[in-house]
Order: sequence, then structure tokens, then C-alpha cells
Amino acid sequence: MTSRRRFIQIAPLAAASLWAAGPVHAQLVGEKDPQAAALGYVADAARADKAKFKNYAAGQQCGNCALYQGKAADAAGGCPLFAGRQVAGKGWCSAYSKKAG
Ligand code: SF4
Repeated sequence: MTSRRRFIQIAPLAAASLWAAGPVHAQLVGEKDPQAAALGYVADAARADKAKFKNYAAGQQCGNCALYQGKAADAAGGCPLFAGRQVAGKGWCSAYSKKAG
């Protein structure tokens, strides 16, 4: 019963924080986010850690990554690696995969 009681205590708080967040404007992923840091995500591909991530090549950026869900010219768009948030079109991470075509 303890976990049920805990849920009852937490649920209204979670609902309140969702409400406070207002309409869904996907938040930009921060570079200090643990998932972002693990993937070496940077909001500006020019700052990619080239020493650590040897797979980086000039010209690579979220906007031309196969996983990017925005249009190439969009300032930001979704990425399945950061569900519910957006990455910068000019960003980059080590999971980069060149978009076909
Ligand atoms: Fe950007 Fe692609 Fe990495 Fe997603 S997987 S953050 S779109 S480089």
C-alpha cells in the first residue's frame, strides 16, 4: 500500500506541473542533459568534440540527419533520441546518420 499512497501523493503534483507547462511547445534539449551529454550532443555542430567522436565530419548536423523530424531548414525539430523535446537544426550528436538522398 505504501507505493499506492506515494502515487496518490505524487499524481496531483505531476498533473499540476504539466498544467503549469502550458500548451505543448517542445523544449530544446540542453547540452547538459544527461542523455545529451552521453551522446555528445551540441546545439552547434561546429562545437562537436572531434577528438572524442571520430565519426564527426564537417557538414554533418541534425538538419541533415536521418533521425531529424523537422525540415532541413528548420531551426529546431524532433529527434527520437530525445522524445518530446527538440534538437537544434544546426546541432549534432554522435548518433548522427546521414539522411538518404
Ligand atoms: Fe541530431 Fe541526428 Fe543526433 Fe538526433 S540523432 S540529435 S537529429 S544528429
